Amino acid sequence: MINSRPPDKMISKVIRNVPFLQFPNLEPFNAIRHAVFTRQGGFSTGTFQNLNISYGIGDKDTDVQKNRELIARCLKSDRLVFIRQVHGKDVLVLKNGKSENNTALFSKTPPVADALVTDIAGLHLVIQVADCQPLLLYDPVQNVIANVHSGWRGSVLNIIGSVVEIMAQRFGCQAQNMIAGVGPSLGPCCAEFVNFRKELPESFWKFQTGHNRFDFWEISKNQLIEAGVFETNISLSRICTPCNTNLFYSYRREKVTGRFAAVIGLKIKSDED
Ligand SMILES: [Zn+2]
Repeated sequence: MINSRPPDKMISKVIRNVPFLQFPNLEPFNAIRHAVFTRQGGFSTGTFQNLNISYGIGDKDTDVQKNRELIARCLKSDRLVFIRQVHGKDVLVLKNGKSENNTALFSKTPPVADALVTDIAGLHLVIQVADCQPLLLYDPVQNVIANVHSGWRGSVLNIIGSVVEIMAQRFGCQAQNMIAGVGPSLGPCCAEFVNFRKELPESFWKFQTGHNRFDFWEISKNQLIEAGVFETNISLSRICTPCNTNLFYSYRREKVTGRFAAVIGLKIKSDED
């Protein structure tokens, strides 16, 4: 019998000549807008070609600015929220009616964090990616979204579990209602950890798939399930970034390279499509 696996297969779309992918389990929800952009369709040149959205890594600021404006237009949003990702486990919570962190959002130096959670319509949460996992979460009952940056250090810190907990504590979300998508990132084919005995906790060792190689997609799925998310609500893109540098940036493969964008936002009620 043929194993019909592809419920996880991502959906390809193009807007304004910019290609992007969507998760099959998030795509049907009209209240949100989400996209995993590739490296194609932007203005950057050379090693950063084409749609690099990160400053401070060697690309021209003017190109990055144009790329950010371009993805904003694709998403029909002028409110993209970036964070300074540091492979930690701090979560930036942006809550309707609370101005606690909301003012710092659009300053030149974004807040340090590795995940964003919000219930504010119109904000689009951005994670910048080159091998680390972007993980999108949506609770359609409370209408709350999150975007998580989880590289192997994030996996070790279980930032995914922290985000699910914060969504529950701060927004009254229930894990069993959440829909999750894990985007293109370092796959088991390329995730070689020669010092894994030092770097990875023993609980990860069962996810070893070959000599010193580990399946961090399954580790994330496992962390989601342990946090209470239903397995049937989790979509793994299973696209490896180092294996697909024509489409995505890979820090491991390319060293000097750009970052692509994974984005999720809650639509403002008056928005169409
Ligand atoms: Zn690979």
